[in-house]
Amino acid sequence: MTDRPTAGVDIGGTKIKAAVVTPDGAVLASATAPTPPGGAAMLDVAAELVARATASAGVPVAAVGVGAAGVVDPVTGEVLAASDTFVDWVGTDLSAGLAARTGLPVTVANDVDSFLVGEATWGAVRGARSAAGIALGTGVGGALWLDGALYRGAGAAGEIGHMPGFGDARCTCGQRGHLETLASGRSVERRYAEVLGGAGPETVGAAEIESRARTGDEVAVRVLADAGRAVGSAVLVLAALLDVGHVVVGGGLARAWDLLEPAIRGRLDDEPPVSGHRIEVRQAVLGGDATVIGAAALARP
Ligand SMILES: [Zn+2]
Repeated sequence: MTDRPTAGVDIGGTKIKAAVVTPDGAVLASATAPTPPGGAAMLDVAAELVARATASAGVPVAAVGVGAAGVVDPVTGEVLAASDTFVDWVGTDLSAGLAARTGLPVTVANDVDSFLVGEATWGAVRGARSAAGIALGTGVGGALWLDGALYRGAGAAGEIGHMPGFGDARCTCGQRGHLETLASGRSVERRYAEVLGGAGPETVGAAEIESRARTGDEVAVRVLADAGRAVGSAVLVLAALLDVGHVVVGGGLARAWDLLEPAIRGRLDDEPPVSGHRIEVRQAVLGGDATVIGAAALARP
């Protein structure tokens, strides 16, 4: 079809963003609003933001792509699972609900899947034949780009945050020792507080831990290096299984790239894949727009 722009929508736990994106990945206009409680209300806000972004871009869009938090069924577009911060979100029929509200064809994927499509199409791993995406946010998300296309499985392919083998701490999912217990922003905060042991009731935020690491706080340096090594171990598993040659790391904690990257690289150099293939690990470059750009790309026919 058409060289008309498409709209990308990023539905997250705290905010919803919509953008009008050209076929070559440029954002013409965007609009953002806080995420309301409830699936129907979230779809109302998403549709309104698409309308606002389209109005400010001054051009119609051909289709809408959504990158949504949670596990999304790739066939039906229904939300299959989500963290308990989302009220009444599981079971929401994203495709039909948003198509009815916008009158446009709707494609849905997980938000980290969309992030990876954005980075693989226009960002840090542009042109890579196969790549993994890792989002180090409040939790840890993952996604796979294999042989030039998003690989979704039954909706949760590449979700490495809940991969086991990373110690014994309790994970947000209720199980123990998942990657997320070392490499998420929340786990970095928890581990920093644990090592300081009763230094005070205040939780030190991940951004503050990052700046303390830069000024020589050894505990801060250590918890961030532990996070980086854990990511490196997960990358080695992905490389052993899938021979992915490129990995892109995004999310809030990836701002501390200069502190994480040496630990990730060190882990990969300690135990290189038997294939002998070098794995390129790169920081995401599209920032807060990666998910809307990727969602808009997925919506293109
Ligand atoms: Zn878990």
